[in-house]
Amino acid sequence: MTECIFCKIIEGTIPSAKIYEDEHVYAFMDIMPLTKGHVLLIPKKHTENVYNFTAEEAGQLFAVAPKIANALKAEFNPIGMNLLQNNGAPAGQSVFHFHLHFIPRYDESDGFD
Ligand code: 5GP
Ligand code: ZN
Repeated sequence: MTECIFCKIIEGTIPSAKIYEDEHVYAFMDIMPLTKGHVLLIPKKHTENVYNFTAEEAGQLFAVAPKIANALKAEFNPIGMNLLQNNGAPAGQSVFHFHLHFIPRYDESDGFD
């Protein structure tokens, strides 16, 4: 049994607000959103970080990025969006299953620095 919380989210043993899924990737709302509409996009295959991500896996994940970004733009009407990806605890990674953050931006008071 996996101890990875994101693997458990993919398996469905931990609930999540799913916004997209295909054969290779899964996207869901962040439980502690940095701004309104904060989403995480993850590969279904457990991969800790960018160092052990293959080019094929990266392609499958980033191929979906415009779809997620456009869905968030249509839903929340942000004026900008940060795509962010942390590797290693010193870089701010707290869940060790690769994830790409989508952080919609509104104005300087949206709470994200
Ligand atoms: P990191 O700091 O590793 O780049 O980002 C991890 C993200 O995962 C954080 O934004 C955090 O709020 C989110 N997160 C952690 N646990 C859960 C969970 O159980 N469910 C969801 N939806 N998000 C989670
Ligand atoms: Zn995992």
